[in-house]
Amino acid sequence: MSHGTRDTACSDIAVRYPAGMSKQPSHPSYPIDETHDPKLESWVESANDPSTDFPIQNLPLAMRLTEADDGDGFWAGIVVAVGDELLDLNLLAASDIFDDDDDDWDFMSIEDLMADGLWSRLRPKVQRLLRKDDKRLRDHRERGRIMSPAEGAVFALPLLTGIGDYTDFYASIYHATNVGSMFRPENPLLPNYKWIPIGYHGRASSIVASGAEVRRPMGQTVADGESEPKYGACKRLDYELEVGAFIARGNEQGEVIPIGEAEEHLFGVCLVNDWSARDMQKWEYQPLGPFLAKSFATTISPFIVTMEALAPFRCGAFVRDKDDPKPLAYLRSDANEKFGGIDMQVEALISSKQMRDKGMEPVRVSRTSFRHMYWTIAQMLTHHASNGCNMQAGDLIASGTVSGPGAGEAGCLLEATWKGAGKDREPIKLPTGETRFFLADGDEVTLRGWCEREGFRRIGLGECRGVVTPAKG
Ligand code: CA
Repeated sequence: MSHGTRDTACSDIAVRYPAGMSKQPSHPSYPIDETHDPKLESWVESANDPSTDFPIQNLPLAMRLTEADDGDGFWAGIVVAVGDELLDLNLLAASDIFDDDDDDWDFMSIEDLMADGLWSRLRPKVQRLLRKDDKRLRDHRERGRIMSPAEGAVFALPLLTGIGDYTDFYASIYHATNVGSMFRPENPLLPNYKWIPIGYHGRASSIVASGAEVRRPMGQTVADGESEPKYGACKRLDYELEVGAFIARGNEQGEVIPIGEAEEHLFGVCLVNDWSARDMQKWEYQPLGPFLAKSFATTISPFIVTMEALAPFRCGAFVRDKDDPKPLAYLRSDANEKFGGIDMQVEALISSKQMRDKGMEPVRVSRTSFRHMYWTIAQMLTHHASNGCNMQAGDLIASGTVSGPGAGEAGCLLEATWKGAGKDREPIKLPTGETRFFLADGDEVTLRGWCEREGFRRIGLGECRGVVTPAKG
């Protein structure tokens, strides 16, 4: 593939700490500041472990479910992950610690924190509270209630009112080229691909939180060699390794979101598994695109890692081949070109039931970087609103399968088992001797993501997990 050796402009930025931190180049909407100082440590010792996803430079948000005292149901509260502990933000707000603070500590949900940039103002204050030298919470009589172990916690979807609208893009040119090659070897990329961030409207109601079981869908499929479909259980169930972005601020219907303002409409990112029924997809996708092959379930990771936390890991947008068209002017800006990407490692792992019963570790099937995406999140958002479509706070846009240029960088099984046109498919081999072209009942798929860069603390997205359960006919 001609894009195989291309890389993004990440290496051109040459960020080094600590010489004049405020002057470090970064996206103009999300400056690198003292909250990213890698020397900051917390009195929560596990947050200082170099391998944690959640040092105090991260502070992602989630909704935790807590069983009611009377055992009658659950209530959901906002938590911030710090090392292997969770800080209950509602209890913190109700305590006397910020009594003298001017900001609004009277929030109920992450939606409230998205509004008017509230969390952007509170984040440095919460970080200050968690620093090693700060005693306000560390020595507080309510510390034992406000802080609790993350182990065993159950999370809801991050938004109390549910995900608004959900749109899934198709922004990896490697994924689009690979999949296109399977169906149209002579013409893998359709002519619009390099002009339009391609997407489809997904189904928000079937988005589930990490850990929820995913039932194998029923649907119409046509067996090889047959000409008519049968209705039955999907036989080619796949995962798709994706990154999602939450919208914090929408636009009025009939108005657009200029590329120069798109980043300020974003709140943060999570991992997305866009479960896909390949046999149903193959039969239904023409002429109008994915429908029931995708809408039965989509799993997201519980934590939203905010745009502020990602600031040190921004990188250039995809560097296009010289023969590729430039994006049209409404999809182009200097800031997007220099800092529109995110250098985030992502990986997908599988474990079969047999593997888990034997205590075996999951097997990694895919690993790549989000920086390889042909379109940036800002371009996807700007394009989405470019016809006057009104985006709303709480909407989720997903990137499409994140596949990179090299071997082992395919973000779904359809690609990972494909060895090229005219070649036999090769299954994924599991340590039990089992093999997989597609997912079997009982298989668990785990997605992970993290950012690393010299001179900064590593931050992670946590995990996005789901187990496949048998179809219900
Ligand atoms: Ca997808």
